[in-house]
Amino acid sequence: MNQLHWMKNPWAVGRTTVQCQNCSHIFTAQMVNCFDTLIWQEAREILDAEDFFYPVCPQCQSQTEISYPCRYIDRELGVAAVLIPGIEGQDTAEASGNMNAYMGRLAFPGMEHRVVGNFYAMAEQMRIHRHHLNDRAVQLLKPFMIGGLQSRGFEVWNGFFTGIVLPKEAKKMDDTVYFSLQGEDPAVYTEKVYQFNIYLTNGEVVPHGINDTAYRICMNILKEKGLAEDDGLFHLYDLSWAIDIHNSLQQS
Ligand SMILES: [Zn+2]
Repeated sequence: MNQLHWMKNPWAVGRTTVQCQNCSHIFTAQMVNCFDTLIWQEAREILDAEDFFYPVCPQCQSQTEISYPCRYIDRELGVAAVLIPGIEGQDTAEASGNMNAYMGRLAFPGMEHRVVGNFYAMAEQMRIHRHHLNDRAVQLLKPFMIGGLQSRGFEVWNGFFTGIVLPKEAKKMDDTVYFSLQGEDPAVYTEKVYQFNIYLTNGEVVPHGINDTAYRICMNILKEKGLAEDDGLFHLYDLSWAIDIHNSLQQS
């Protein structure tokens, strides 16, 4: 990463102490308190590159993942996210109530407000909004892919949206889940594919995709649940939330 990026960033003021996961060496790394795209043009790029939350150990050159409370504010894309390390999987309704009680002062009018538990989810929020997608629908796609991998014996930690691919020809792509509304339909292979990195518990990363019909099915689920429109409050929409929504559909 270009050192200039850091020097131009007025918010990269902090440093954090890191212990190398490989050799236990202790070193310091840059800490960004606020990724504000209005005053820091490279904020999205830095968030996208993900290097900053994988500092390199000066002793053994291996990378260690770090996480700390910070914010991402993107007025142009209409999203503000707060990172609270380890908040994933908490009771969403209760957590949302608490979040809004003490984070209301961090809110911006007319923007979507999210709470995320790690930097992958923060970078994902930026990518989702850059593609002008509904982030709840993107979350609902994940169990479709992760469930398939688990049934093939993979142990999955989580998955995060990376971007959209437009197929060049009407051909089935590898590692892609296709939904169809009318049985075997080759037309599904021409649809745009939503790409994710699926993270296994052993540290491996498996790229995986899912087609646009699946996204539209998820949008319909949201409409049925009255969740298609954002209410402006802080929400934690993570994998656990998505699994709960899918489970609630099976019960009803
Ligand atoms: Zn090391």
